[in-house]
Amino acid sequence: MAEKCPVCGQSVGGLTGMPKPGKDLKEKGISLGVYEEGMCASCLSRALKGKVTEKTDEEISEGNKAIRTAMPRVFVSPSSIPDGLPDMGLVTGYCILGTGPFTALFSGVTDALGRKSNAYMQKARDAEREALDALKIEALKKGADAVYCLRLNLTEATSGNGMLMVSVTGAATSTGRDDPAIQKAIDYLKS
Ligand SMILES: [Zn+2]
Repeated sequence: MAEKCPVCGQSVGGLTGMPKPGKDLKEKGISLGVYEEGMCASCLSRALKGKVTEKTDEEISEGNKAIRTAMPRVFVSPSSIPDGLPDMGLVTGYCILGTGPFTALFSGVTDALGRKSNAYMQKARDAEREALDALKIEALKKGADAVYCLRLNLTEATSGNGMLMVSVTGAATSTGRDDPAIQKAIDYLKS
């Protein structure tokens, strides 16, 4: 499975690819708004260099904590935006995962206990959560605390090579509820 860095175009991960960014680097990139899905570690470091002096490490770790606390509090729903709430625009989230051959996802149970099938389903679930997290961060960046009209898609990202893309889209809105945890994350992301 060879993912390509959207910046330098080189493959990322595996034995021969560019190194993937570590968890801390990735969080830093997300919180500073420079991370693009699939970015290699070196492009991300370069993108961070111009930004990182603006915030201290302490502020960043406080900000990441605020974002992590706020994310589960962002309400998401497939129904349409309730009357009277503003439409703050489209938000999206993506996650690309390698699964082995795409058809295996739908080939059903591969042993008597269905072990293989369950592993794929777990992967899809994890990817779904990651895509939703990305969508919620986009919403918070807009100052929104809820996302309606949520649509989730699972598509093949490359033909037959076992790359799946989970994408979620929705309409961000602000419910006007008083939630200090959400407000803290919004303030941080806008600063
Ligand atoms: Zn790169």
